[in-house]
Amino acid sequence: MLTDKIALVTGASRGIGRAAAKKLAEHGAYVYVNYLGSEAAAQETVAEIIQNGGRAETLQCNVADFAACGEMIASVIKKSGRLDILVNNAGITKDGLLMKMSEEDYDQVMDINLKGTFHTIRHASRYLLKQRSGKIINMTSVSGILGNAGQSNYSASKAGVIGLTKSAARELASRGICVNAVAPGYVTTDMTSVLSDQVKAQMLSQIPLGRAASPEEIANVVLFLASEQSAYMTGQVLSVDGGMSM
Ligand code: NAP
Repeated sequence: MLTDKIALVTGASRGIGRAAAKKLAEHGAYVYVNYLGSEAAAQETVAEIIQNGGRAETLQCNVADFAACGEMIASVIKKSGRLDILVNNAGITKDGLLMKMSEEDYDQVMDINLKGTFHTIRHASRYLLKQRSGKIINMTSVSGILGNAGQSNYSASKAGVIGLTKSAARELASRGICVNAVAPGYVTTDMTSVLSDQVKAQMLSQIPLGRAASPEEIANVVLFLASEQSAYMTGQVLSVDGGMSM
């Protein structure tokens, strides 16, 4: 399905990013596994991919750093000659009530979740435009659609990702580049494992399907958006949230 496609997945050392990297590799893509600080975990992602007969390598970069993202994309092009699939998955939370939120916590979340997504698209688009093809998949969230008390910084960043997705889709469509977003609800990863039992129970009570998603269930939708099965889709936000946002 993705034979010989070159993919870059940000934040692929753990969670949804790791599942997406594995899924793309399972379907034939060569995958660059980006991470921030978890080198061993990123190497584990690569080892699992290789064990399954796939091809991958790690690529460290802080997506909040504009220049570093330029170097990351340039190194992919230098090594592989092209980039077909860019999955902007790296993200963090710094939850807190609006009244008490520090400027630093607001900025950090915006810098990684929203600006980080801009940084990679900005640098990759130069090459994708020349190629006249490419798939960009941005990870947003149900919080960016509905808002969430205690997540004003995160919700703002993820709503921003939706606006960025649609604008990029409009700008790049004439050159055959598709830009879409995935909006998960509650997924069992490190990001949500730190939540209290009370918050988890409250989230579960809002999910019609009555359970959290596995990272693989999100990765399945990333695969669809990365493949030619979604050739006529751009500027869309696919909710994968057990019905939470309907
Ligand atoms: P996670 O398990 O906490 O993993 C986060 C990943 O992002 C890690 O690989 C981490 O790398 C990477 N990362 C963080 N800051 C980075 C930076 N500055 N530069 C490069 N990489 C960075 O998170 P997750 O739950 O899989 O979430 C993945 C995405 O899905 C995020 O965008 C998140 O907002 C979104 N999402 C998650 C849920 C959920 O319920 N889990 C729901 C909706 C949306 P290191 O390991 O090196 O730190």
